[in-house]
Amino acid sequence: MPDIAGTLEAHVAPYAVRAALSRGRAFPDHDAGYRGLFQRDRDRIVHSSAFRRLQYKTQVFVSVVEGDYFRNRLTHTLEVTQIARTIARALALNEDLSEAIALAHDLGHTPFGHSGESALDEVMQSQGGFDHNAQGLRVVDLLEQRYPRFPGLNLTYETREGFLKNCVPAGKPGRPRAELGFAADEMSPLEIQLVGHADEIAYDTHDLDDGLVSGTLTDEQVRAVPLWRDIEAQVVKEHAGSEHDARLRRFAVVRRLIATLVGDLLAETRRRLAAHRIATLQDVRCCPEELVGFSAELSPRKAELEAFLLEGFYNNPQVKGLTTLWKERLKQLFAAYRDDPRRLPEGHRRRVESAGESLDRVICDYVAGMTDRYARKHWGTLVGTDFGF
Ligand code: MG
Repeated sequence: MPDIAGTLEAHVAPYAVRAALSRGRAFPDHDAGYRGLFQRDRDRIVHSSAFRRLQYKTQVFVSVVEGDYFRNRLTHTLEVTQIARTIARALALNEDLSEAIALAHDLGHTPFGHSGESALDEVMQSQGGFDHNAQGLRVVDLLEQRYPRFPGLNLTYETREGFLKNCVPAGKPGRPRAELGFAADEMSPLEIQLVGHADEIAYDTHDLDDGLVSGTLTDEQVRAVPLWRDIEAQVVKEHAGSEHDARLRRFAVVRRLIATLVGDLLAETRRRLAAHRIATLQDVRCCPEELVGFSAELSPRKAELEAFLLEGFYNNPQVKGLTTLWKERLKQLFAAYRDDPRRLPEGHRRRVESAGESLDRVICDYVAGMTDRYARKHWGTLVGTDFGF
């Protein structure tokens, strides 16, 4: 059998992650064959239950009620993945690893978007709160039960490390990497760093699109953001007549915006790799700064766009209305299981009885794993009488 990982990775840069040098899986596994190590991680993620459930989880809009056009967690994940693969390939990094991490990056998200996360964070305060990245790690390490020989998906160290998006090396302000069981004094590889930025590029751009289509944002409002205004002016100049077709113009501006952000990220990352004389993966791990990033010129313009989205879109009462209602309802659902744990499925009850996990942690895992409509069904049965959203 040919060395498939070696063939796939023959053209990656010397500072890319290579399967042959992976820190491996917690439980020894048979990785030889026609798929590389990180391809197998990707396939395990795509075949997981948590991945399929992303299609009925809210990104910003509760799409099953508010319209099929809008992004849900699954379509968002697919947009992040294609941007991450583009960046990884352009930088000659390990595309399979970035793809696996991007596909997994939102597996720990609750139903009803950030309102759901905030509900679980409040009820879990006595146990350290709730963080979707740490929860994603629980999903792939423990909660997916698909193999007889080990819990979870038994992913490689590097793919699991992808969930450390908000963690930092020892000595820096923030949640330490060691808290989640990873080497304390290292930076993440470039394949991981880039996924966080691919996530930002995807939501910054698709949320503008969803905001405009929903009518939450108007053309006049987005034109007040200099980055949007400048790109729109370029588009109108290059495509005569596009100023008369708002829909085609919107698509063209969003496309150009993605290309602008990706192009800047590639140029700035190459600049940093050269400035820090990065020659090996060890150099990346030891570098005191993040190497993947946006330029000093674009960063404030991007921040301005994100501040606009926060105020005009995410915090817009029209957008938040339904998910705010569900924040309270998820807390009620959590309390209903706590009042009578017999309401939990048998497998979850067993985890309290035999695996020594706290009742709150088990309820949290169960509620976090729900889709919007599954949560609605169970809230309707256990708490409320209103079966509508
Ligand atoms: Mg995301």
